[in-house]
Amino acid sequence: MNPVSDIHHEAAKCVACGLCLPRCPTYGLLHDEAESPRGRLALMLALAKNDLPLEPRLESHLARCLGCRACERVCPSNVAYGKALDATRALIETSRGISAASTSKAARLLRWLVDKPDRTRTLGGILRLYQKSGLQWLMRTSRALRLFRLAELEADLPPVRSPRSFAEVYPVSHAPKGRVALFTGCLAQIADQQVLISAIRLLNRIGYEVHVPPGQGCCGALHLHDGQTGKAAELMRRNILAFAGAGDVILGVASGCTATLGEYAKYLEDDAALPFSARIMDINQFIAQQSWPSDISFRPLAKRIAVHDPCTLSNVLRQEDKPYALLARIPGAEIIPLADNAVCCGAAGSYHLTQVRIARQLRAPKIAQLERLGVDMLATSNSGCAMYLATGLRAAGLAIEVTHPVVLLERQIQ
Ligand code: SF4
Ligand code: SF4
Repeated sequence: MNPVSDIHHEAAKCVACGLCLPRCPTYGLLHDEAESPRGRLALMLALAKNDLPLEPRLESHLARCLGCRACERVCPSNVAYGKALDATRALIETSRGISAASTSKAARLLRWLVDKPDRTRTLGGILRLYQKSGLQWLMRTSRALRLFRLAELEADLPPVRSPRSFAEVYPVSHAPKGRVALFTGCLAQIADQQVLISAIRLLNRIGYEVHVPPGQGCCGALHLHDGQTGKAAELMRRNILAFAGAGDVILGVASGCTATLGEYAKYLEDDAALPFSARIMDINQFIAQQSWPSDISFRPLAKRIAVHDPCTLSNVLRQEDKPYALLARIPGAEIIPLADNAVCCGAAGSYHLTQVRIARQLRAPKIAQLERLGVDMLATSNSGCAMYLATGLRAAGLAIEVTHPVVLLERQIQ
């Protein structure tokens, strides 16, 4: 990655047509050209050309971008906006030592935790104890969390399960239909364990042998989007090495991680990056395109299920139709897309920790809509969105289960 030339290359493609403006959540909220994709591209270019100095106002316009890439999807000039944004954050990080997108204490803590799989698992054990022992209640009722500026991070904690080790291979009892590898990620192992368990069971049931390479770790997205390209590249290389020879296809259950894994070749000057990214596939997509064994059937589920489309599933992987195709297999289930699915929920990696006010402004209409719809469940395919929306639902006192389409599907198999 060469930040300056990447910015020049992408920003030069922008013809200032403005078609992206109505799709940009921050422009929709703030009605300011500098908070739009077109305006931000102009700022990025000015920064790269040294026409504008790096000063707090400029940096905050760039930091307020969600990186949702809704603009990229509608751009007739094919501006790779996400690439330009990552390049700009890397440029800021190298010029100043730290970017506004990465200054939050909670965001820094999160990046430190996902660096090493052992750290994430240890954290899982500690969090489980914290939630079960009554300490969580004590901390929430005291001012300690505010004092250490960790209230936002703590409020977004999902109920954590005890850390679990996965076997390296989950075989099937007959000749397998094929071998697939599963990306378990970092935080998903403790916060979203059930999705991984359901994915393995479902893949086995369809006939696939599942491999879970032990050397894998965080996909690098948090570091990449915060401008820490050196650390992101290190994490990317670790995954490329871990998955060498494991399964033909590498499946991701969280669209945020899957989208990053699929774009390693964009960021890494490494011959192995392109073949690695070519093996990446979203679990919904993979399962939806399978011919299912005739002995699999599903128990009816008389529930109203809202579906949230994560930005990474829609704007990067372009597979947002697949969860609907999967859920349609469950008899009796009423599947309802959220009306504002094209708009980011505000989670956006560590964005909800650094831009708390805007993130909540984006989440609030979704929570209100879920309440109005009177749904029983919300299905989403990205763990970050799931956690953030679940926190919003809990805060609103709504007992709506937030789950992954794969979990629901596997649960209903009879
Ligand atoms: S990535 Fe999202 S928030 Fe950022 S400019 Fe594009 S549409 Fe707007
Ligand atoms: S849609 Fe593309 S070309 Fe048009 S203003 Fe937005 S970024 Fe520029």
